[in-house]
Amino acid sequence: MAAHQEKKTSGERKHKSTQNDTRTSQVQWGRAWEVDWFSLASILFLLVFAPLIVYYFVMSCDQYQCSLIDPLVDLLSGNKHLSDIWNKTPTLTYRAAGIYTLWVAFQVFLYVFIPDFCHKFLPGYVGGVQEGAVTPAGVVNKYEINGLQAWIITHVLWFANAYYFHCFSPTIIFDNWIPLLWCANILGYAVSTFAMFKGYFFPTNAKDCKFTGNFFYDYMMGIEFNPRIGKWFDFKLFFNGRPGIVAWTLINLSYAAKQQELYGQVTNSMILVNVLQGIYVLDFFWNEAWYLKTIDICHDHFGWYLGWGDCVWLPYLYTLQGLYLVYHPVQLRTANAIGILMLGLIGYYIFRMTNHQKDLFRRTNGNCKIWGKKPEYIECSYMSVDGTKYYSKLMTSGFWGWARHFNYTGDLMGSLAYCLTCGFEHILPYFYIVYMTILLTHRCIRDEHRCFSKYGKDWKRYTAAVPYRLIPGIF
Ligand code: NDP
Repeated sequence: MAAHQEKKTSGERKHKSTQNDTRTSQVQWGRAWEVDWFSLASILFLLVFAPLIVYYFVMSCDQYQCSLIDPLVDLLSGNKHLSDIWNKTPTLTYRAAGIYTLWVAFQVFLYVFIPDFCHKFLPGYVGGVQEGAVTPAGVVNKYEINGLQAWIITHVLWFANAYYFHCFSPTIIFDNWIPLLWCANILGYAVSTFAMFKGYFFPTNAKDCKFTGNFFYDYMMGIEFNPRIGKWFDFKLFFNGRPGIVAWTLINLSYAAKQQELYGQVTNSMILVNVLQGIYVLDFFWNEAWYLKTIDICHDHFGWYLGWGDCVWLPYLYTLQGLYLVYHPVQLRTANAIGILMLGLIGYYIFRMTNHQKDLFRRTNGNCKIWGKKPEYIECSYMSVDGTKYYSKLMTSGFWGWARHFNYTGDLMGSLAYCLTCGFEHILPYFYIVYMTILLTHRCIRDEHRCFSKYGKDWKRYTAAVPYRLIPGIF
């Protein structure tokens, strides 16, 4: 439906064009065709260090009460050797392998075999079969949107087990956290390697593949745009949403259960983390159809960045606040807790409203009201691979008139709120806001580079009308 809306409802009108100058620009949008030395260096850095960073954070909680400095001090002073730390690290266990296999298999089952029923009784929810955006090769994929249902079923079963069946302890995730890390890594590497192999030998859509000729870049950033197995198993939608994001709230619940077990109570900071991140996760699934139009699905190819990132980076680093609070049960003063809650909710409101304004604007082709007025916009055009010319619009009013990515600003406010729940004793919980700031700033620049390639001079008119990226008047 997304692309349908883009082409028909939102009026991204198209007609065949024979202009060669515009044909040259059409192959530019989407992931890069050539690798510059800086991108290659960043990619090599990430391939080597990202798994070590995840290990270091989780290990420092397990062995050093979440201090990031103490392991370094121990190593540099010769107090400990790397082998001492490694030997103390829990290894892969059959139990963890069993839990993880069951978990992923269950999510695959929910994704592939249970068609969405939520859209039949939840007013306003868009689920079931939906269409994605037009790919650079002009393909429109269909998706089964059933993430909300998968999330609900998984969580109902979780609570049923915790309060009624008692088949396993709700602390199961925390108790197997490092053994599960090895399982997540195995899946992350396996799926990324498979995706690369598939891109070469049996791509789902050969025209939407990109080869730079650089092995590391292609492995990291992906070759295939929308790899699939069969008609419905879409790698990007599955790995982006589940198992990582469905797991996010379960992981937090497991941390809360661990606090209860260790200290006989759940602190208000842990409740705040569960509530604020729970809202974010639920928002993701409520808007899963909208998500088909975000950069991850519309523009990124599927490689290690998404495959490994969704399996390992997201569940392990996005949940650091809850993990920290198990080791340091912070009880916030009521005024502080309310302040953090307000920051998180205002951030969420900005994030949601900005995304909603763009969605509404694009869906109605600008025939809507933004803050009670007709939206202002800039008309623009671009070309797809087959030479078809499309027309689109860039909104310059509402939150989109304040800054070019005010949705990221709201997201960052929410991210800061999660971190603040942990107090100021350690820097580990603040990794998230540092990371999100780098991620979203880089994403902003990457997106603008792509939009410039796509829209050319129309994009320049847009940036002249809305000169700031994230913070009006500053950046
Ligand atoms: P956006 O939703 O901001 O989408 C950017 C695209 O929107 C552009 O490529 C362009 O696409 C279109 N666009 C840009 N400006 C305008 C305008 N003025 N009017 C209309 N359309 C415009 O970016 P993302 O997909 O990155 O982010 C979606 C959300 O997901 C954000 O809120 C972000 O904070 C969140 N996010 C969270 C992450 C996390 O890890 N927690 C990671 C990444 C994102 P087109 O080609 O269609 O013109």
